[in-house]
Amino acid sequence: MDATSSYDKISLLRLAFKGLDDRELQDMAALTEIRTYPPGHVLCHEGAYEEVFYIVADGNAEITKKMIEGEEDRLLRVARRGDMVGEMALIQNAPRAATVRTLTECTVLEMEKRDFETILSRSPHMAMDIIRITLDRIRANDQTMIEELQKSNKVLRQLDRNKMEFIQVAAHELRTPLTVLNGYANVLRAMSGNETNAAMEEVVQGILKGTERIHEVVNLMLDVSRIGTETLKIAVVPVPLKRIIDDLIHNFEKAASERKIRIYAQHAEGVPIINGDPGLIQKALYQLIINAIKYSPDGSMILVTTRPVRMNDGAPGVEVAVRDRGIGIDAEHLELIFEKFYQVGSVDLHSSGKTSYKGGGPGLGLAIVKGVARAHGGKTWAESAGHDEVNFTGSTFYLQLPVDPPKPNSEK
Ligand code: ADP
Repeated sequence: MDATSSYDKISLLRLAFKGLDDRELQDMAALTEIRTYPPGHVLCHEGAYEEVFYIVADGNAEITKKMIEGEEDRLLRVARRGDMVGEMALIQNAPRAATVRTLTECTVLEMEKRDFETILSRSPHMAMDIIRITLDRIRANDQTMIEELQKSNKVLRQLDRNKMEFIQVAAHELRTPLTVLNGYANVLRAMSGNETNAAMEEVVQGILKGTERIHEVVNLMLDVSRIGTETLKIAVVPVPLKRIIDDLIHNFEKAASERKIRIYAQHAEGVPIINGDPGLIQKALYQLIINAIKYSPDGSMILVTTRPVRMNDGAPGVEVAVRDRGIGIDAEHLELIFEKFYQVGSVDLHSSGKTSYKGGGPGLGLAIVKGVARAHGGKTWAESAGHDEVNFTGSTFYLQLPVDPPKPNSEK
């Protein structure tokens, strides 16, 4: 006689399905087979369409799921005596959602899909039990996943804080020798005497231009470490938005005209005065306009518009849009470009110079825009038909700011 036949199917089924009466248990027992498998045997293969449903009678089996390509499967739970496995895929007519592998020698009650369906249609008790068990399991899986995500989120936030601290320290460390360098270059210039040594003057000019550029990058690093933090507090005063935009355009005129780029501003009727931090808003708009110049070919056109809008919560606000006819951005980058250090394409291909075509930058400008938007309770995003250096369909960057930023203590 087969050793496994000594298993009492009825008591096992009673353990798995609490609501079944004796008749139903007997019907079900008649349709099941008892089998024993060695350790390491795969009962269910994730992704496969399989037709068997199991109830563990003895031994343990692990249930694992592939979460991230290239990484080890994650353990969802261990199935023990009285647990059923493999029923979800049968109910859904879907491939297995997880892999079930025996950890020890495992004895199971097996039922074919066809019989399982017959029993399900005959027994509302069993259907209810299965629904309840399945829902419990989905809820438990959700909970595990949420906890896992919360843990990863915490780690990512800490890593981001470390990165910001490093940027801040590096920027401060660079600032002192830079100031020294700048000072010596000026001394050198004074010593050489302008007219007598034109070659020396050129060298000194080169050094000063270089230090000025490094200074700008260092300031950008300091800005992002301050503006990038979620706790940034802003000074709130009325902001002359239109004037900030007009002044910025005016200041960019020389650099833009060297590349035959024209920048226009258009302010709609009824743009309200907003309250916020003018210094920060100026920094954000500076980044949007300088990017529009950088990523537009010579001879192009940039349009900066403002209009009154309703924010998501219905509160009044202003939208600034910077539209260029530049190289455009593919959809997969549209959100990521607002992350610190994110750049599209190869950094090696960048030319240097802050307003030259595709001029290199540290990838911090849009992170500053995002930080400024967040600090004001506003939002920023980009739209583009895609990267296109033939037709230059370009991109539009939006910055929406509410008339009144949220009070600091109403932060969520
Ligand atoms: P940086 O310009 O210093 O690289 P940003 O944070 O300002 O960094 O921008 C991130 C990336 O977004 C840029 O490297 C560029 O690929 C893309 N980008 C930003 N503005 C535009 C624009 N107006 N047109 C096309 N691409 C843009």
